[in-house]
Amino acid sequence: MTELVYLDHAATTPVDPRVVEAMLPFFERRWGNPSSVYALGRGAKRALDDARDSMAEVLACKPNELVFTSCGTESDNLAIKGVAFARAARGKHLITSKIEHHAVLHTCEWLQKHFGFEVTYLEVDRQGLVDLGQLEAALRDDTVLVSIMYANNEIGTIEPLAEIARLVKGKRQDIVLHTDAVQAGGVLPLEVDRLGVDLLSLSGHKFYAPKGVGLLYARRGTPLLPQQQGGGQERGLRAGTENVPYIVGMAAALRLAYEEREARCAHMARLRDRLIEEISHSIPGSHLTGHPTQRLPNNASFVFEGADGESILLNLDQHGIAASSGSACSSGSLEISHVLRALRLRPELAQGSLRLSTGVKTTDVHVDHALAVLPGVVERVRARTPALGGRRA
Ligand code: PLP
Repeated sequence: MTELVYLDHAATTPVDPRVVEAMLPFFERRWGNPSSVYALGRGAKRALDDARDSMAEVLACKPNELVFTSCGTESDNLAIKGVAFARAARGKHLITSKIEHHAVLHTCEWLQKHFGFEVTYLEVDRQGLVDLGQLEAALRDDTVLVSIMYANNEIGTIEPLAEIARLVKGKRQDIVLHTDAVQAGGVLPLEVDRLGVDLLSLSGHKFYAPKGVGLLYARRGTPLLPQQQGGGQERGLRAGTENVPYIVGMAAALRLAYEEREARCAHMARLRDRLIEEISHSIPGSHLTGHPTQRLPNNASFVFEGADGESILLNLDQHGIAASSGSACSSGSLEISHVLRALRLRPELAQGSLRLSTGVKTTDVHVDHALAVLPGVVERVRARTPALGGRRA
């Protein structure tokens, strides 16, 4: 196959041509600074307001509860540090899970190391669901923030956010609940009241907007200290001249994703299910990771006994297939990812992880190609890595 078979949409997505179209005027003609008082600036400000209104509709929140950022990582940092520093006098205990993205985990570790916060890292079960009993037991009088992801980027498990919100708010209304919804953006419902969250992070490049633009929803009244100082943009919560074209693009992409969500999800899930069923049948020693049903519609993640994930990726690349082993952000290192470790998989299993993630432009022909190539690739990798207990399929 000469065409690239891109099965890594959880890492990033191509920009939708309709999104490019929506952005172009803001490079070419409407390039003013939204803080300027003259017409060019006011036009840019209007575009920002429209983008904010449009995104607020999808989240069913007020437009002034949205803060534009540069990426999902920045949204997570602003949420966690913003609450931690705003509430430090009230308490210094934070709760998160062991399977969060590094944007959350490293932020919590940094607060622990440099500012004396205490962090509880919740366990997950073998399918990646957060232990709710442990969460309930971990909530303390000095807990100020709970941060649990909506859906996991490696294994696709969807966490029971509404249940988590019930437990957290049942303990104390003023404990802030943040969710990293970066992988959920574009595919799962985002109405913040239904989810019961106070803070929610999104990243444009996961739903067919460009890389380098993100969003933080912050419920009115949530204690939040800005993490960068400067001009008073974004109601003083995020100083810096707004990236108008990218924000316009993100809003257009989110709107399209939710207008087309049913059809997109049905398409991606059908192809995901083909991958899951046919790989499980055709490759002995393969195991699905993550939850069998409570999972993202586009995520098919596996471990293969006696294989090494990096070698599988390189071999797939030679066949024109782009995929990921564990999280894209931590690939390049041969270490078992913290997510797979949290699932308590045997190391010889966890080494052979592969994540295939479908997208709106994935076709049956792409999936056919992956299914034709993968069994041979796994067999070859196993034969070359006897140290991992390699076995012939
Ligand atoms: N959170 C999750 C769950 C992610 O999957 C990612 C990116 O892969 C991020 C946060 C970081 O988002 P960004 O790449 O926009 O910084």
